[in-house]
Amino acid sequence: MEKAQSQDAAMAPSETDSLKISWLRICERLKSEVGDVEYRMWIQRITLGPLDEDEIVLYLPERFLRDWVRAQYGQRLQSLWREESPLVQHVELRVDKKAQRAASADETPAPSEPTMPARSNISIMAKEDAAALERESSSPSHSTGGEVRNDLAVPLDRRFTFDNFVVGKPNEFAYACAGRVADHPASPGFNPLFLYGGVGLGKTHLMHAIGLKLISRGNISVAYMSAEKFMYRFIASMQSKSQMEFKEQLRSVDVLMIDDLQFLIGKNSTQEEFFHTFNALVDAGRQIIVSADKSPSDLSGLEDRLRTRLGCGMVADIHATTFELRISILEAKAKASGTPVPPKVLEYLAHKITTNVRELEGALNRLIAHADLVGRPVTLESTQDVLKDMLKAHERRVTIDEIQRKVAEHFNIRLTDMSSARRARAVARPRQIAMFLAKQLTSRSLPEIGRKFGNRDHTTVMHAVNRVSELMEQDPGLAESVELLRHMLES
Ligand code: ADP
Ligand code: MG
Repeated sequence: MEKAQSQDAAMAPSETDSLKISWLRICERLKSEVGDVEYRMWIQRITLGPLDEDEIVLYLPERFLRDWVRAQYGQRLQSLWREESPLVQHVELRVDKKAQRAASADETPAPSEPTMPARSNISIMAKEDAAALERESSSPSHSTGGEVRNDLAVPLDRRFTFDNFVVGKPNEFAYACAGRVADHPASPGFNPLFLYGGVGLGKTHLMHAIGLKLISRGNISVAYMSAEKFMYRFIASMQSKSQMEFKEQLRSVDVLMIDDLQFLIGKNSTQEEFFHTFNALVDAGRQIIVSADKSPSDLSGLEDRLRTRLGCGMVADIHATTFELRISILEAKAKASGTPVPPKVLEYLAHKITTNVRELEGALNRLIAHADLVGRPVTLESTQDVLKDMLKAHERRVTIDEIQRKVAEHFNIRLTDMSSARRARAVARPRQIAMFLAKQLTSRSLPEIGRKFGNRDHTTVMHAVNRVSELMEQDPGLAESVELLRHMLES
């Protein structure tokens, strides 16, 4: 802006005041958004710092707090600031040990700073967890009977029901197991229930479905949280010296669900805590449900004894979606939306977005929103246009393995020849074409590509890329083959 350095001192009093007022308003808004407990635990620790050009500095007393606030609220803080003050475009969160607000009595500063890596992609469940946390705190800590139990229950997403879950070959087993646990929690052989599979394949959905069904029958306490949240709450309980309370609350639930357990890899004290909670609950005949991105045996980095116990009940894998399942899911979601979407468009999406149901859903929602907004029906053309950026990102996700397979198939050579030392033209040319496509369609570097082709040098790959480009100009037949392959790989 106008001034190079607008420090606190140099700032007109009115500007400082207006920033303070903005900050108070932002705090109020955040408080209503995140709830009292979450607010006290994190936001209230923030101290307003100076405005540096168009960047407002906010201080936190510890690195751990700073990292958490940045990950959880960084975006929100920035947009609130932008809304509140024309002077502020960016928010900078800094650690300042002295910056501790006059906070409420329950905030005992931590004796030492737990060392935790900063993470940017922190849990999407945070909002719900925050609400749960709020409920938890608003209850008396040692109240009678079921009250405390119910307070640990995190609000579950009402959309994530069994009815809304589309069942197909890849997920039917996990679905059946989830249904079984929802109907008969803690039955032998199903405790713990361990759900695993890739991102966006429905693990969280199934866990919520179990929770919702259990709760609908009443008189049962269900606690759902991400493993990450488990860790942060565990650490926060240490900091506020309320560990016993935390433990007791966890141990008082009938059903404990921990989502994305892989997050605990390398976090040893939290694993230890989870292990003890786990044992206490199972011994007491309560149900544990855990999800992760890998099977217990593949979750290296988890303590052996925990891994063993996790594998003791029912382990159910959610496999990658098939084309049929993707179509069924899209049909169900399109129907629920009430906006007509032509089958051609659904097929197109199911072909293009293959890895993640969340993205598939996102694409469909975007199409529908667009159609509603412009008041025109969804067509294949509008789809391609509206989803351009999204689809491009997917096109880049072709793997070198796929390229090698498709090219080998196309030229009728063995897949092993992609990495063999054979130099006969009939083999070497397709190999070069595969390298060329790998360079074009993936984000792999030349040395990485070389390694995938029988540990060849990156100069060999570079040569192949140049050679194929040349040949494509000279030989229309070859150019057509390459284009055809590219097209097949991209669709
Ligand atoms: P994960 O926890 O495995 O990463 P989620 O459970 O969050 O995945 O699922 C991502 C999104 O996809 C959610 O909106 C969920 O409702 C949806 N989804 C996933 N699988 C299905 C399915 N079989 N039927 C309907 N919706 C699904
Ligand atoms: Mg999930």
